[in-house]
Amino acid sequence: MTVLIDKAKCIGCGACTVECPVEALDLVDGLAVVDAKKCNDLGKCLTVCPTDALSLPNQPAKPKGKLDPEAGAKLNLKDPLPESVKDYATGNEKKTIRAQVAPVAGGDVWSGVWVIIEYTNGKIAPVSWELLGEGRKLADAIGCGLSGVITGHMVDSVIPEAFAYGAEKVYVIDHPVLKDYRTEPYAEAMVSLITKYQPEIILMGATSVGRDVFPAVATKMQTGLTADCTVLGIDPETKLLLQTRPAFGGNIMATIMCRTSRPQMSTVRPRVMEMPERVDGREGELIREEFNSNESDFHTKVLEFIISDAKNAFLDKAEVIVSVGLGLGAKRNLVLAEELAEVLGATLAGSRGAVEAGWLTHDQQVGQSGVTVRPKVYIAIGISGAIQHLVGMETSDFIIAINNDPEASILKVANYGIVGDLFQIVPALTAEFKKRLQHGVAN
Ligand SMILES: Cc1cc2nc3c(=O)[nH]c(=O)nc-3n(C[C@H](O)[C@H](O)[C@H](O)COP(=O)(O)OP(=O)(O)OC[C@H]3O[C@@H](n4cnc5c(N)ncnc54)[C@H](O)[C@@H]3O)c2cc1C
Repeated sequence: MTVLIDKAKCIGCGACTVECPVEALDLVDGLAVVDAKKCNDLGKCLTVCPTDALSLPNQPAKPKGKLDPEAGAKLNLKDPLPESVKDYATGNEKKTIRAQVAPVAGGDVWSGVWVIIEYTNGKIAPVSWELLGEGRKLADAIGCGLSGVITGHMVDSVIPEAFAYGAEKVYVIDHPVLKDYRTEPYAEAMVSLITKYQPEIILMGATSVGRDVFPAVATKMQTGLTADCTVLGIDPETKLLLQTRPAFGGNIMATIMCRTSRPQMSTVRPRVMEMPERVDGREGELIREEFNSNESDFHTKVLEFIISDAKNAFLDKAEVIVSVGLGLGAKRNLVLAEELAEVLGATLAGSRGAVEAGWLTHDQQVGQSGVTVRPKVYIAIGISGAIQHLVGMETSDFIIAINNDPEASILKVANYGIVGDLFQIVPALTAEFKKRLQHGVAN
């Protein structure tokens, strides 16, 4: 049994593809399709479909919303909450919690913009500095301070860097328990600082660490978190953070606000924001805090690190990328792109289409569910430019797109668009670059 899709009702919004926990749904030709092998009838997709196009076999389509509508109608905000309500999709009882209403932004209590500086295995995630640059703009807009937060062990070398990239204050918890990254102790350390100093806004990179620890922190603080933002803004009147990210399968950009609880928390994709200027020797206030936990308080232990040998582990740092899409037709044609990449000293990457076709590995995928890149040059070969691809590469410095469809979306973001057959254009480009680079011609 699988979820049934009424194609007449489906508007191809992609909400179900995002909600499905087993990735059984996808959009094909603008309509939802279900992979019968993956679908497990959980029915989560039913709860988000805006047109009731989905239903479970032998059951009528459900009304929108997760809760029993009758139970909802009986609820009054002033009444005590019932202990549980029915999850309308699954029929299970769900425990209820009342959202905490915290003081509004701009009150005396919650103030300041914080950036979590990610320092793991002796390396700083550069997105931390990008966020100090973005944090500066937000702090200036609402007239508050900008601080960096460092949790880890032996972190002293990071502190002057945080000041150099613009932090006015740096909060530090330095403790042996924080030597290796683990969710629990890192979340505990961050929560202890947040609870004590009550910042208005906290930003962190949407790296694997950020994506792991920030939901835990947000849950402990009972506040909202917008993950994977690509644009941030702020309303100077209300001090509400405007957190923009792709939504509904990337078909729209949604701006999300956290109106009723504090702090406002976002993770932001690496290489989307500009790197700020580094001012050597800039100073600020250093605040060190104790961490009153020890090893026995935590459930996980790091036994060893196994270094990945994936040759594309650094795709997000590549300066020149040759990226391929389904227009290539077959895996054997990858050689065309490989030759071009070799001549240019470029890194090979591709669209999800190319990855799903088995031509590339997932760590080579550029886009919303892959890597965000910001190279100096991005050459897109036979890629249509779906929004989910564009969000991962459109901030590249210079984009060259080769496509035989003059209407392809990729051409709209390209600095140079070459309309034509890639099988003629790519070998010609490779030969020309080879010739010029051999003769030392720079452009
Ligand atoms: C939740 C979700 C997340 C997603 N995440 C990502 C993601 O991270 N990254 C991503 O890329 N996609 C992602 N997608 C998929 C995305 O929507 C597109 O399906 C995908 O990007 C299409 O890949 P493509 O451009 O290679 O293929 P197509 O869309 O099929 O485009 C092929 C292009 O090649 C051109 N072409 C064909 N033959 C030639 C030729 N001989 N010469 C020149 N041009 C030619 C065609 O005109 C066409 O424009 C996601 C989708 C969803 C729903």
